[in-house]
Amino acid sequence: MIKNADNLDNASELAMLEASIQEKFIRQKAAKIEKGLSGECIECGEFNQRLISGICSPCRDFRAKTGHR
Ligand SMILES: [Zn+2]
Repeated sequence: MIKNADNLDNASELAMLEASIQEKFIRQKAAKIEKGLSGECIECGEFNQRLISGICSPCRDFRAKTGHR
């Protein structure tokens, strides 16, 4: 029985460790995402809350799809 309890402890410790690693990974990823600025898109001229390099997300998506840089 004691051995089972140890296994459970290990399992929950492992799960907690995994969760904290995942959280760290997500945080690191989020930190890399550019904040973006609000303003007019240089591509379409539409106002957008989150311009990255002066380009709105629909235009960025379009560029990504067409491979246009
Ligand atoms: Zn745009």
